Amino acid sequence: MRRTKIAELLRTEPIDTEVLVKGWVKAFRNNQFIALNDGSTPHNLQVVLDFENTDPAVTDRIKFGAAIGARGQLVESQGKGQKVEVKASEIIIYGDCNPEEFPLQPKRQSPEFLREHAHLRFRTNTFAAVFRIRHALAYAIHKFFNDKGFYHQHTPIITASDAEGAGEMFQVTTLPLHKIPRTESDEIDFSQDFFGRATNLTVSGQLEAELAALALGEVYTFGPTFRAENSNTTRHLAEFWMIEPEVAFADLDDNMSLAEEMLQYVIRYALEHCADDLKILEDRLIEEEKTKPQDQRSEMSLTEKLRFVIDNQFVRLTYTEAIDILKNSSPNKKGKFQFPVEGWGTDLQSEHERYLVEKHFKKPVILTNYPAAIKAFYMRQDEAKEGVPGPTVAAMDILFPGIGEIVGGSQREERLEKLQARMKEMHIPEKELYWYLDTRRFGSCPHAGFGLGFERLVQFVTGMTNIRDVIAFPRYPGNAEF
Ligand code: ATP
Ligand code: MN
Repeated sequence: MRRTKIAELLRTEPIDTEVLVKGWVKAFRNNQFIALNDGSTPHNLQVVLDFENTDPAVTDRIKFGAAIGARGQLVESQGKGQKVEVKASEIIIYGDCNPEEFPLQPKRQSPEFLREHAHLRFRTNTFAAVFRIRHALAYAIHKFFNDKGFYHQHTPIITASDAEGAGEMFQVTTLPLHKIPRTESDEIDFSQDFFGRATNLTVSGQLEAELAALALGEVYTFGPTFRAENSNTTRHLAEFWMIEPEVAFADLDDNMSLAEEMLQYVIRYALEHCADDLKILEDRLIEEEKTKPQDQRSEMSLTEKLRFVIDNQFVRLTYTEAIDILKNSSPNKKGKFQFPVEGWGTDLQSEHERYLVEKHFKKPVILTNYPAAIKAFYMRQDEAKEGVPGPTVAAMDILFPGIGEIVGGSQREERLEKLQARMKEMHIPEKELYWYLDTRRFGSCPHAGFGLGFERLVQFVTGMTNIRDVIAFPRYPGNAEF
């Protein structure tokens, strides 16, 4: 007999037919009622044991966490809480689960505890919901770009370029660490390494995506990126997934509109397709908020927060305007910022970003035209402008409530001389990036793109406080378990 998934059963409700379901026991009451879940839906299916005709040795093995199968009639349920249930004529035990040894308990367990049991946390309602939503968001991103005519590109994970300046890199080598070969001038002899040169794990697929965009028009990557930055925050991972669209013949405005449209599309997709999972996470968040002091609690529920983002246009303002707002803000005047905002030119701290988004505008914010000195070499240099104290670039960062920066992007410098001059200033050797510069030598054109940190998006949509809880097996300083 074919197994029916619980999601399908609850959708089609084929009353009075014989069904076979398989899953994990979520609860077992009165030696009679099993709540069964198979991962296809957050909802459990009630399986009712035929008390008389079930072998007590089998009944004894129906424990929280055990994997079982149940065959029987699907009937309308007499009890509250479900419309249908299975009257089991047969129970099959696939995998026992000893409650004395099973680390998970049928009660609330802390995210920290569950992180240490990341191999089992999929089994909890919260994490099952998170990972179903993570899937839906990945699918929605591909659908969004596919429907627009973008081509998905796979960019290298091992790379020889270390000039992108996006963060510290992990080295990739097969050289014996106990006996590293050296050249005559006592440098590491990478010519003996696997690739005949020094290599790293990529921090971004952008430069390669640009090459593709300058032929295919509109492309995007969706791949893993690695940063060896020692950031022990709730928003940084050492291994994370990034979506990087790159569009030929686009400027900064086009870029912002694309990012805003994409974010709203995928959040709407989650609201429409993951309502039940979002409900679980919304309730979880309400419980979590209760443990916080009143003034730190969020004014909005999870779904309200999501609706708010799709119903409101993002605010667009320049870095220079933002500095003015921050300088004159009451927390700055009252010395409440840990990093006081003094003048133009410094990078914004997360407390400043959060003030703008959560207190001042109360909307997602797109900050543009940052000082060139704090941004990457490939960003397009702006014309000098009155009231702007120094050189700026056509950069944009999108800031979200609770998350801070979720997207970073720019119009790219398409003018060869300007790009070369900037690289020289930043001591980036041309010969390392000759291939990148070639696109500016041959048929260069205006183009723009951005990077969306996938886990930050999943974090926002699921309302999980820590980014380590939205990727199955998080990598961060001191941890590469599983
Ligand atoms: P931040 O200032 O938050 O460290 P960044 O300026 O280093 O971010 P970019 O280099 O612009 O970020 O990367 C693009 C996007 O990738 C960011 O907007 C963010 O969503 C995501 N991102 C960057 N670093 C990390 C990280 N360590 N873990 C998870 N996501 C990240
Ligand atoms: Mn960073």
